[in-house]
Amino acid sequence: QSIFKNRESLMPEYIPEALPHRENELKLLASYFRHLIANPGSMSQRVLIVGRVGTGKTTLMRTFATNLTSIAREKGLSFDYIHVNCYKNRSLFGIVRDIALQLGLSVPHRGLSSKEIMDAVISFLDEGDRYTLIVFDDFHYFVNIAGKEAVYFITRAYEAFHESKRLNMVFVSTDTNIIGVFDPVTESYLNRYIIKLQPYTSSQLLDILRYRASLAFHEDAYDEKLLELIAEYEGVDRSGEGNARHALTILLTAGDIAEKEGAGRISIEHVRKAITIHDRSKEIERINDVLRYSSLHELLLLLSIIRLLRKKNDKEVEMGEVEDEYRLLCNIHGEIPRSHTQLYEYTRNLSKTGVINAVTKNMGNRGRTTLISIPYGPLEELEKYVTTLVTKKRE
Ligand code: ADP
Ligand code: MG
Repeated sequence: QSIFKNRESLMPEYIPEALPHRENELKLLASYFRHLIANPGSMSQRVLIVGRVGTGKTTLMRTFATNLTSIAREKGLSFDYIHVNCYKNRSLFGIVRDIALQLGLSVPHRGLSSKEIMDAVISFLDEGDRYTLIVFDDFHYFVNIAGKEAVYFITRAYEAFHESKRLNMVFVSTDTNIIGVFDPVTESYLNRYIIKLQPYTSSQLLDILRYRASLAFHEDAYDEKLLELIAEYEGVDRSGEGNARHALTILLTAGDIAEKEGAGRISIEHVRKAITIHDRSKEIERINDVLRYSSLHELLLLLSIIRLLRKKNDKEVEMGEVEDEYRLLCNIHGEIPRSHTQLYEYTRNLSKTGVINAVTKNMGNRGRTTLISIPYGPLEELEKYVTTLVTKKRE
């Protein structure tokens, strides 16, 4: 018999019914968005949520917005919750298009400007007398790539577009300094509506682990001691980062190891193994979020960089040789190589999201070149990981 009752409930995407130790934050959100139920259209609210990775930002917003949606529906209000993932949509057009698509509008890939799409969104809301809450999750990625003007377009949209009070927004970021990218008016407004999520302490993590373990495993497959070990390892009051995602991933890995070994239950040793594995692949996890949404060719380009760095056993490689390696890889996989300009764009993305380092260097009479490096490793693991992603994308 499997030790898992429901393995999915330990996955990062899983939305649990309860969020222990985030009750106050949920209450704050409810007070900030009370008007959406009590008096929709009376104002257009904007809120900033800040907290390190794994402090529950995404889950908090999903839980809150899902509850809000059902209350609104009960009251007969037309309310839409839109969750925009800024890892996935890295341009202004991409984000605006995603908003329209989530509302059920059909938008062509080309031919319309961001402004035109936004106009269509607003008309749609006006005509249906609808109100919406848009969550810009991991907004710092959008800021880095799309720039200040795009931020201005998004944040001041409620004014530019017929003073629409139908748009309510939440900006989610890991970085407190993000407040500096907003225009002064928005900045001073958001300063009054910030919710900061603190990293979890060991005892908070223990509660979270207890809850999630009870969903995931059969009762006799684990015991309290395992959970305590993980909580103590990851708690911010001990030596950890207070990252609930780490804690849950360790538990999941421990479960997987036990299952693979055919053990009937998880042992302390399984947890220790999971902690070690996890520790080694920390960097990979950091970039996991970015790469999950990378296109096939962005991944192929990254894979060429990794392979070349390994082949040459060098700390950096030139863009030109990377492109050669990339074309070789495309050949192997039967893919048509993308243009030089497109590859440059991928390099820029990968660099801005911290997956690679890319610096332009003057080579004298040889002109300019881009030098690419990967400041973490080991690359052997990274290559395996990216190869799996490529395989998945091609399925
Ligand atoms: P962030 O968006 O801040 O990186 P997530 O919302 O993705 O964090 O949370 C990471 C993982 O931890 C998810 O699996 C989530 O379900 C879980 N988690 C975070 N906070 C809690 C909590 N208070 N109770 C239960 N699970 C939580
Ligand atoms: Mg998140």
